[in-house]
Amino acid sequence: MHVLSTLRASIHDAKTVSKSDSGSDKNQLSLAIRDARIPFTSTPSLVDDVCSLLASRTKLCHVCQSFSSQLSSWIRKPTFDELLQWPERNFAKDRLAALSDGYRLLPPERVDPTTPRPSNAFKHHRPARDLLKSAKKCRFCELLKLAIVLDSNRRRGYPYDKTKTPLGEILMQYNRGSGGPDVTNIIEGLQASEDAIYLMVEPYPMGGYIKSGFSKSVLGNIRVIWQKPKRMLTGEAQAVVFTRLISLFAIYFGRADVDRILDSALQPFISTRQPLHNSGSPDAMALIGEWFSGCRSRHGECCRRTVSRQVIPEDELHVMPSRVIDVGLDSPNQDPHLVENEGQTVGQWVALSHCWGKEKNHPLKTTRRTLARHLKGIPLSSMPRTFADAVAVCRSLGLRFLWIDSLCIVQDDEDEWEKESQMMGTVYEHAVLTLAASDAIDSTRGLFLERPYAHIKFPSVQLPLLTAESDSRRQTTLGSYSVGIDWRQEPFMTYLHPHWTPLATRGWCTQELILSRRVVHFLTEGMLWVCRDKAEDENGQMIHGRLTERDWSTEWGKIILEHSQRAFTFEKDRLRSLDGLAKELSKVKNNSCNVGEYFYGTWLADIPEYILWASYRTGKKNPRCPSWSWASCAGPVWLRFRDFDNLRQDDFSQCCKVLGVSSTSGALTIEGKVADISHLILHLMRRNGTKDLMGQNGNATYRQPVIQGYAVGSKGEEPYGWVEFDDDRDALAMSEPIYFVHLANGEYYTPPLIQHWGLILEKENGYDNRYSRVGMCSLWDSKLFADLRASRVEII
Ligand SMILES: [Zn+2]
Ligand SMILES: [Zn+2]
Repeated sequence: MHVLSTLRASIHDAKTVSKSDSGSDKNQLSLAIRDARIPFTSTPSLVDDVCSLLASRTKLCHVCQSFSSQLSSWIRKPTFDELLQWPERNFAKDRLAALSDGYRLLPPERVDPTTPRPSNAFKHHRPARDLLKSAKKCRFCELLKLAIVLDSNRRRGYPYDKTKTPLGEILMQYNRGSGGPDVTNIIEGLQASEDAIYLMVEPYPMGGYIKSGFSKSVLGNIRVIWQKPKRMLTGEAQAVVFTRLISLFAIYFGRADVDRILDSALQPFISTRQPLHNSGSPDAMALIGEWFSGCRSRHGECCRRTVSRQVIPEDELHVMPSRVIDVGLDSPNQDPHLVENEGQTVGQWVALSHCWGKEKNHPLKTTRRTLARHLKGIPLSSMPRTFADAVAVCRSLGLRFLWIDSLCIVQDDEDEWEKESQMMGTVYEHAVLTLAASDAIDSTRGLFLERPYAHIKFPSVQLPLLTAESDSRRQTTLGSYSVGIDWRQEPFMTYLHPHWTPLATRGWCTQELILSRRVVHFLTEGMLWVCRDKAEDENGQMIHGRLTERDWSTEWGKIILEHSQRAFTFEKDRLRSLDGLAKELSKVKNNSCNVGEYFYGTWLADIPEYILWASYRTGKKNPRCPSWSWASCAGPVWLRFRDFDNLRQDDFSQCCKVLGVSSTSGALTIEGKVADISHLILHLMRRNGTKDLMGQNGNATYRQPVIQGYAVGSKGEEPYGWVEFDDDRDALAMSEPIYFVHLANGEYYTPPLIQHWGLILEKENGYDNRYSRVGMCSLWDSKLFADLRASRVEII
């Protein structure tokens, strides 16, 4: 995150510089960027050199010719039905690795060449050293060599552990032919390698064209897979090169006539999708239009269904929000203006999700004073950049109405705001499209952000697209297409992720992004499309990091985790910004929750499971929220019990009984065993840092928290349990007793075999059975409360 913000700041600075001195734009730009240590944009001229090197290789060697012929048949008939897993993956393990490795699915550390290869995996030069010889003449071999050199500089811990050598430095070494350790090592490794280089075609969309019958198909990635010789493997290096090349073109398949089109008239269907240089360009608008119309015409019902499973009519007409902006489709010279809707006017609108930013940069607002004026017109020139860009997108899509919170709700009318804030969920849910200003910290930044790699070429080479005559000598060339290296991949670019953005840190975006059925995210590095059927970047790469439909209805816990990490200008919005979502979810059929049983961010049916949260100890708790609710913490929480235990309902019913929540006081009443454990905590409040728990000193026998906590009691070397306090206390005030209320048992395969989960409570002054929560705890010794009788406790 830090690197990213440095990057963004410097791009901004670079732009400011170039505005004031247009004569030396390029120098100023690269200067500003170099100073901020941004590797990939510092070297456009070095990239030019690499491109001319590739252009000077005019031939294709016989191995590449044979690959290109096979690739042609894959492009023409992309039936990847019998794909094997190759290299064989352990998905459970890989998923973890992918998580820690920037969501990139890595191959196993070693590739077993004896495993049967699927038809889309091609053995290229063997031994790998033949590539070096061949690359002196063959353009595709040169491209593969470049890809291997670049990927070899990737570290094990990407994205947290980035390559230490800037891209420019590596390219300089590459252009020189050697001369630096980064390139020399790899060339030597290739020379020493006995293994083959493999190329694997990854189709996109995976099987999508079969399902829908008619869809755009893009030749996906070509993975370059090469196993490094053992002696190359030093500490941080990956054992396997697993980089991707992308093809810069798309083919459209007709429904029943796929083969006819392909065989007779493929050429007109080949279009090159050059990398987009600006999200506001006509190409970018065309892509948004393609995404949008593709979703509406071809995607399944899931894209026309609300979170509450209400099916939206084909024409997607809904009762309009109270006010919307008419962007002026008929006469683009006319200013946009507000229109008011009373009653049952139906229509379609686009919604904007954006950050307001610091107060001095707050967006243009409608107030009681400016309402009449805004109804007449809001000149584009008076709009902040993000708003004007959003108007441009609406116009290009032919969508007349746009909803922006700051303009469509009168901001200084509290009654109106109260009323409208209740409707916000519906505004996003019924919008035909949501535009997310994901990388803009405030509305002055815009949707169409200048891209850092906009002026860098993709080093690419042309491959021929051939007919599929069975006799390869009779193959004729239908056309050609480019295969190149995308800079937007590791280790040089950050993975595009809708949740690693300034917008995603904002509290209100939880519900906006879950309720919106279609979202275009505008990031500095590119655009992302997320609907319920598809989540991809502008290269057609699938992206991760969104909740699925199943998750909304069953995994409120995931929503809590995401939401609690976000930032709130007003603490009261922590809960209020989830109201619209809760209301929608309560309508879901078969959902045991109804909105009358939703208290302080928690469904009654989820208690006690969802009150077993742990906080990251971010300070004092919010006294206006009951202490048992996760929302009482002004920061991220973690559902520890859920993480540790595959729960069964009877875990709870055996241990406690939830009697209800008072709708007036918020007090939660539970029947359970309550034990005074002060003596266990006071004597041994040993503080444990994260390092102790995760590092060498961590005791693998116990399931220990990865956040700070305290061991409870001690028997010899063994603790009795673990306690985590909600606030940032380092020691207990010795005066008040501390209680444990038993809520659940978790069974484990390793000792302690059973953990008894519960809350840590302090008694409220002057009450017998009224407590407030101060933390959570797992006790490992049931003797500590076995003899007690269950009693009724009220937690406020
Ligand atoms: Zn070759
Ligand atoms: Zn869709």
